[in-house]
Amino acid sequence: MNDRLTRAGLTDIADKLETGERLSLDDGVRLFACPDLLALGWLANREREKRHGARTYYNFNIRLEATNVCVASCLFCSFARLKPGDPGSYTMSLEEAWDKVRQRAHQPLTEVHVVNGLHPDLPFDYYLELLRGFKRIRPNLHLKCFTAVEIAFFADLYGMTDEDVLRRLQAAGLDSLPGGGAEIFAERVRRKICHDKCGADRYLEIHRTAHRLGMRSNVTMLYGHIETMEERVDHMLRARALQDETGGFQAFIPLAFHPDNNQMRKLPAPSATDTLRVHAVARLMLDNIPHVKAFWIATGVETAQLALWFGADDLDGTVQEEKIYHMAGARTPETMSTSAIRRLIRVAGREPVERDTLYNVITGPEAQDDAVALVQ
Ligand code: SF4
Repeated sequence: MNDRLTRAGLTDIADKLETGERLSLDDGVRLFACPDLLALGWLANREREKRHGARTYYNFNIRLEATNVCVASCLFCSFARLKPGDPGSYTMSLEEAWDKVRQRAHQPLTEVHVVNGLHPDLPFDYYLELLRGFKRIRPNLHLKCFTAVEIAFFADLYGMTDEDVLRRLQAAGLDSLPGGGAEIFAERVRRKICHDKCGADRYLEIHRTAHRLGMRSNVTMLYGHIETMEERVDHMLRARALQDETGGFQAFIPLAFHPDNNQMRKLPAPSATDTLRVHAVARLMLDNIPHVKAFWIATGVETAQLALWFGADDLDGTVQEEKIYHMAGARTPETMSTSAIRRLIRVAGREPVERDTLYNVITGPEAQDDAVALVQ
């Protein structure tokens, strides 16, 4: 491999990684520019295996989008509808949302993941009650709900500070924050693709506050649209800097841009090789974030399997009911049973490990997991 790394011009970066020296912005840009994908993958895999060996994590979760009414106008979004009553718009009643969990009483669910549009008319109590109801129905369920963009929106709409919003949601049952809404932190990109939602500094500040309040979170990156390689690496470095301060991020999640049914439909979707490169560079740059997730809904199942050799150690989970990517043209299934996830990890040559949201390993007879039939 040394010859190959030399030919790829990556020897100095390989040496830095071996001695634990941090990679710089320049290093990250060079990694993206390196034509030898396998040399890059080899380095990323070495870092992945140092941390996790062959282990590949997944969880038994459900994703729920309670409303797609949204006052923002992100160009890449195929999910949002401007007003209640617009064709395709929906807002679940609390009972409808709670029913999604009640109907799964037989499933060994460990997490509910909720993200929504920015609805201008719902009262704050709707969100508080949503959480309280989930906890009443299943007290042990981990509630990973509301992106930093939603938290900022709630604060502005209901006249509270970001911290007050987080505290009140936490008191109602919120356990952690998902990483959505990060897109690309660079101002140039945000101005063009998502000018009317919370900016990068506030996104990071909300995560900082959530970590201080004892919550964990994830951080995402939407790639494959108008961003440059420098902007991708800058995004990773901003996440790394906050992680140095708080240690509260659990996973970095690259999210592939999907071009169907949105205002950026003239752009192509990112290629599989770009997807592998993004996961690999993320693993190499983010020395302090434990997990890199290949979100199979967004990457496609086969590319997610490959990513397990390019730095990724987590596949998200059963998901169920995903709408955001499917409205943008994702051709992946909307759900996967735990037995299917375990199988696809095994045939990729990795070892499946069920985890909860906080990466505690769930032990129990595999056969029991594998016997669970998901409600379609
Ligand atoms: S990405 Fe989120 S905030 Fe932006 S338009 Fe879509 S639902 Fe609204």
